[in-house]
Amino acid sequence: MPDERESAASPEQHLTDIRERGSFVSAHCRCGWRGPARRARARAQADATAHEPPARAL
Ligand SMILES: [Zn+2]
Repeated sequence: MPDERESAASPEQHLTDIRERGSFVSAHCRCGWRGPARRARARAQADATAHEPPARAL
């Protein structure tokens, strides 16, 4: 499986994804941030959304 760590995206950019671990899900960001483990995927997604700056919406 290829690793996408060599992406051309800026390291300053926050890019989150949701990872499942056992019965918990947590948000991870390429900046190193990691959200708390949640029982609901929607909660982890909310953590990720709250972490990412809403710059693109402006
Ligand atoms: Zn981040």
